Amino acid sequence: MMLTAMSEDCEIWTKGTTGYGYPTMKRDGRSVYVKPALWKKASGPIPEGMTVRSRTAQILHVCEDMLTTIKRDRERDGQENKAQGAGR
Ligand SMILES: [Zn+2]
Repeated sequence: MMLTAMSEDCEIWTKGTTGYGYPTMKRDGRSVYVKPALWKKASGPIPEGMTVRSRTAQILHVCEDMLTTIKRDRERDGQENKAQGAGR
């Protein structure tokens, strides 16, 4: 199986990140995660119990068509879930 190759059109996040390397941006004076924000803009609310992930291994690859939702894994994704949960 081939991973989707990055094209010239690919968006690689070059702005802020968390200490864990997750892309973040400023919104209303707060830092928010970029991938959930893009997902919500394109597809609406994130389903309950799900979290937004990229289909690629490149953590800074933030193309909308690379985003997908997966079931939350609290242990592994605690850091990212904390920020998502803050908006509810
Ligand atoms: Zn891309």
